[in-house]
Amino acid sequence: MKAATYERLAIFTGIPASDLHAATIHHYAIPLTLPHDTVRLRWMSEGNLLRLMNGYSRDFRVSARSQFCPACLKEAACHRLIWTPIAIAACLRHQCLLVNRCPQCEKAVSIETIIKAHCQTCGTHLSETSSPALGQDAFGLFSQQMLWAWLEQLPPPRGAWAKSMPEAPCSVLYGLVRRLNYTLLHCLDHQALVPSLREKAVQRSVEEIPWVQYELNRLAFRAILEWPESFLELMTRMTAEAFFSGSRLSGYVAEPTARFWPAHPDYWAQPEFSFVRSPAAPGSLLGQEVASQSQQP
Ligand SMILES: [Zn+2]
Ligand SMILES: [Zn+2]
Repeated sequence: MKAATYERLAIFTGIPASDLHAATIHHYAIPLTLPHDTVRLRWMSEGNLLRLMNGYSRDFRVSARSQFCPACLKEAACHRLIWTPIAIAACLRHQCLLVNRCPQCEKAVSIETIIKAHCQTCGTHLSETSSPALGQDAFGLFSQQMLWAWLEQLPPPRGAWAKSMPEAPCSVLYGLVRRLNYTLLHCLDHQALVPSLREKAVQRSVEEIPWVQYELNRLAFRAILEWPESFLELMTRMTAEAFFSGSRLSGYVAEPTARFWPAHPDYWAQPEFSFVRSPAAPGSLLGQEVASQSQQP
């Protein structure tokens, strides 16, 4: 939505423009924009300190393919904004995975369906869906909690895991985890994860499966702990098979002996990632790979 649309809506509804803004993905404009890029964020209006995101971001689910927590729906039949970022795959309150399909007919659930709390195709009550509990998985929950804190600009979880990560602004760390997540996503056999889908939509559908997204983030976080050792090991020594070993995704690795190749070289070339790629920095190998990739015809 454009700034003027918010202002007009505020007049029509009597709801303050700031409340309307807080209900859209623009709420995540600052944590999802790298520091050097914040100048491109548009201000909502003069004197109004609300930022609007530049264009469409593939960090979010489209409204026709949303996700929900059954226990949250039982408490109140409404859609929560925190279910919109693709990286979010768990409800921290109920410590369970989110659900993105009707448990009965397996149809994708839209935001409209979630608000109605029952499937519009088969009538199943979505709040009765069972969802895997994550209470035993402290590290998986930590990774979701960290993502949640970055997105909502809340204090991050404390402890040894958080302390061993690189020090950088939350938008940079979020970007680092998301790009590692894509790199890992490219290692998977997408067709094996969603056999019923046609080629074009497969990768997007795979990353929207909550348990897959949860595992990818878990692995991406593992790669930035004990910075820079784990990351260097991933980039220099590990094969896909070794890295995914022990993960629920290990049976879906497309080329088990493949080495990691960072996806999106242009992204890593941005100034904020010098700590990952400069020759004097720990991830110098990534720098070399980015350089050699950009030299390719
Ligand atoms: Zn919940
Ligand atoms: Zn259904």
